[in-house]
Amino acid sequence: MSTSNQAPVTPHCFLEVVIDTPLNSSFDYRWPCQPGDEPLPGQLALVSFARREVMALIVAVKSTSDVPPEKLKDALAVRGELAPLSGRWLALARFAAEYYQRPLGEVALPGLPKNLRVPKTVALGRALKKLAKLDAGQDSTAVGMPVLNTAQQEAADAIGGATGFKPFLLWGVTGSGKTEVYLQACAQVLARDPQAQILIMVPEINLTPQLEGNIRARFPGMMLATLHSSLSEGERMLHWLAAHLGQARIVLGTRLSLLASLPHLQLIVIDEEHDPSYKQQEGLRYSARDLAVWRAHQLGIPIVLGSATPSLESWHHARSGRYTRLDLRERAVQDAVLPRVRLIDMERDRGRDGLTAEMVAALRLRLERGEQSLLFLNRRGYAPVISCDACGWISDCTRCTAFMVLHKPENRLRCHHCSLELRIPRSCPTCGNVDIQPLGRGTQRVEEGLRAMFPEARILRIDADSTRLKGSAQAAFDSVHRGEVDILIGTQMVAKGHDFKKLTLVGILNPDTALFSQDYRASERLFAQLMQVAGRAGRAGAPSEVLVQTRYVQHPLYGAVMRHDYERFAGQLLDERREAGLPPYMYQALLRAEARELPIAIAFLETARDCLAHDGILINDPIPMTMTRVHNMDRAQLLVESSSRPALQAFLREWMEALRAMKARVKWSLEVDPLDI
Ligand code: ADP
Ligand code: ZN
Ligand code: ZN
Repeated sequence: MSTSNQAPVTPHCFLEVVIDTPLNSSFDYRWPCQPGDEPLPGQLALVSFARREVMALIVAVKSTSDVPPEKLKDALAVRGELAPLSGRWLALARFAAEYYQRPLGEVALPGLPKNLRVPKTVALGRALKKLAKLDAGQDSTAVGMPVLNTAQQEAADAIGGATGFKPFLLWGVTGSGKTEVYLQACAQVLARDPQAQILIMVPEINLTPQLEGNIRARFPGMMLATLHSSLSEGERMLHWLAAHLGQARIVLGTRLSLLASLPHLQLIVIDEEHDPSYKQQEGLRYSARDLAVWRAHQLGIPIVLGSATPSLESWHHARSGRYTRLDLRERAVQDAVLPRVRLIDMERDRGRDGLTAEMVAALRLRLERGEQSLLFLNRRGYAPVISCDACGWISDCTRCTAFMVLHKPENRLRCHHCSLELRIPRSCPTCGNVDIQPLGRGTQRVEEGLRAMFPEARILRIDADSTRLKGSAQAAFDSVHRGEVDILIGTQMVAKGHDFKKLTLVGILNPDTALFSQDYRASERLFAQLMQVAGRAGRAGAPSEVLVQTRYVQHPLYGAVMRHDYERFAGQLLDERREAGLPPYMYQALLRAEARELPIAIAFLETARDCLAHDGILINDPIPMTMTRVHNMDRAQLLVESSSRPALQAFLREWMEALRAMKARVKWSLEVDPLDI
């Protein structure tokens, strides 16, 4: 039979795609096309998968497939109107997937705007049209740049003039003007290359408006795109596309912007690089900071990690010479000095409503002078627990190893881990005693005490509860900047990055619990947090002071805070870490399992522990997690360690395959470089 007698075969190719699914593989689809007119890797294709229409990412286009023809389906559509994601972007997603041991599809697709992943193309068409009109944006020169001090100028020039992969650690005390360094380095890069794009990351969504305002003022007419979780889907699509098409010259975002498609990326800036928010704590548990360094390396471009209190990982890299350190040792504003830090001994002055007499006097003085104060208490709600004196009952959550927190404005008890809500009981559920009392203090209770003490003062609380509504956090911060607030009380939300100009007093309430935490990172974190919140004071030059209420005035951590001595403190912590065999001298991964009953979770982890030979890898015994039960599930963990990252990575790859093959009935997950263990 000659070929000419056969029914004409439509020419086609095979698309190898990945899909957002836990299955750790790629899938082949057939696609009719003329030779030379095939789709490209990095394009999106609509396919039918598990009886649904889903968006897939093409990772390869092939002329043959190993899948038997009768099992091959046709792809439904290819998004030809969208320029393909670059090979480098795919390589970044692939690296992230391999490093964190997740399927590529689960990493790559959720990084794209939702509107790109729906079967309909309306939103894409609309966004493309809108951007085509905006393309006319002319190049602008930077304006209104202040004169930098010598240290700032040296830093900005080092970064702006760097070529090739060059990681910088910009270590600058709070208020030293790191933002100006970033902006002027950006100006240099943008001026040099009319296409250059820059990615700037901040740890918290609340910090984007302040920086966005600064950038827009300096680079009028230049397109800036923001990427964070509170954009509408329409906005996200538009901003993502502006970056992908090279139109947005600066992209400012939270950790999720790490995966933005930036074809002309020339510089990456990570502000407050020490912040734990750069680590995603569920799903794909990746570190946006670490991946950003990899991305800079891949592209051969400079990256700046900025902080007053660098992570010990970054400090370690700076000491070993891997990162180039740039120091800003003084505050930028004329006459502004770091605040004086004093400890108030709570063994002597127990205080009323959680405030010592000395703290109250300091607040009163600020009120008289018309200056602002900030009280920092990292505990939201009214009281962390309520209890019965008569029988010892306390408000445990029935589903978690945790207390139900009293929220007074809503008259509710609320579990912060499983969201269980109850009305406050009128009497003790165990003995009927009507005199049940709140124990301890959260921000709501401190606010109540302050209002009674200073009825004339304008008091504002900022925490996750007070800022639930969209835009309310921004409105609250704006009113502080406008000087409409005398006393601000808040959680870590207020501690970071904000440039409050009228603040001269910072009061720190109850930081002691973190001193005795089992978590080996607790002191690093507490120190950074105290230095950061202290750094909100005196930024405009007025003399300022920080008061810490503590029962452990002799504790060396507080001594280091009083001396603003990050360097020595970090050196000591690193020595301890080396002795104890902890990161950054050791690489870790954590396998977690949860089940209805603890023994089931433990049994799974024991099987996992024993299922593979492991030279050069230390596998610890399974243990229950500190907060064992959450939402009626018992949780346990298994820590795996090695002094060699490649050895650990090689082991994890094999281990994951073995674990997936077990098809265990417990829910489990792996975290590489865990922060909380
Ligand atoms: P950091 O991020 O290091 O804490 P910021 O970048 O917020 O500090 O700067 C602190 C303050 O110093 C800001 O109000 C900023 O406008 C001001 N500032 C920065 N650089 C200069 C400079 N060279 N001259 C005058 N003021 C400056
Ligand atoms: Zn009781
Ligand atoms: Zn609970």
